[in-house]
Amino acid sequence: MSTLSDLIDADRWIDRLVQQRGHLPESAQLGVVEDELRRRVAELKVRDGARANAAAALEQSQQHSDPLRQRLATLRAAASSATGGARDLVALEKEISHIASDVARYDDQELVLMEALEPLEAAVADLKRDTQPLIAQRAALGATIAELQASIDEEMAAKRVERDAVAAQLSEVVRRAYDEALRRAGVSGGAYVDGNRCDGCRIALSPLDLDRWRQGSAAVSACPECGRVLVPCSS
Ligand SMILES: [Zn+2]
Repeated sequence: MSTLSDLIDADRWIDRLVQQRGHLPESAQLGVVEDELRRRVAELKVRDGARANAAAALEQSQQHSDPLRQRLATLRAAASSATGGARDLVALEKEISHIASDVARYDDQELVLMEALEPLEAAVADLKRDTQPLIAQRAALGATIAELQASIDEEMAAKRVERDAVAAQLSEVVRRAYDEALRRAGVSGGAYVDGNRCDGCRIALSPLDLDRWRQGSAAVSACPECGRVLVPCSS
């Protein structure tokens, strides 16, 4: 029975490794970090949208105001070197005054737009800066998880070699019953009788089943509930 016990122990060990690999605390931490990163990406999209709208409004205003400023500069240069008659000069001054008031209106508007844009740009930059440590944490956790998984995989591969060697020592009939139970019940194809219970499924065996199992009349005694091959408790 010791071979069967060794096989049960090896398979349970392998199952623990599988569970360990699937439930690394670092994986849970990575999940939390990734959720937070997703939340921040969504927040960044909102902030950047507001920034882009404000920047577009400023640009649109400048597209109108810049030609006016150039025109104003040209007219002022013309006025300072004017050689024409007084009437021409008056018309020139009138146009300058008209354009200057338009430019002043645009200046006021663009100052307001720039003041609105500044905190929006800062909000985007702040969020990007504050998110850097999280991005670094995600990378570090990813590397740690890969390392831990590689180490578990290595141990699991060695354990599988060991378990296959043990399984090869079993008789054909026991091994087939064990493999079949392993396929159906998972974890291991055998279980220990602990008191009057199968320790694979924790079901109490009937006195009749216990008697039959103790007598060992059948080549393979299986738990009537989970089908695992029953062996005496190892402790
Ligand atoms: Zn059972």
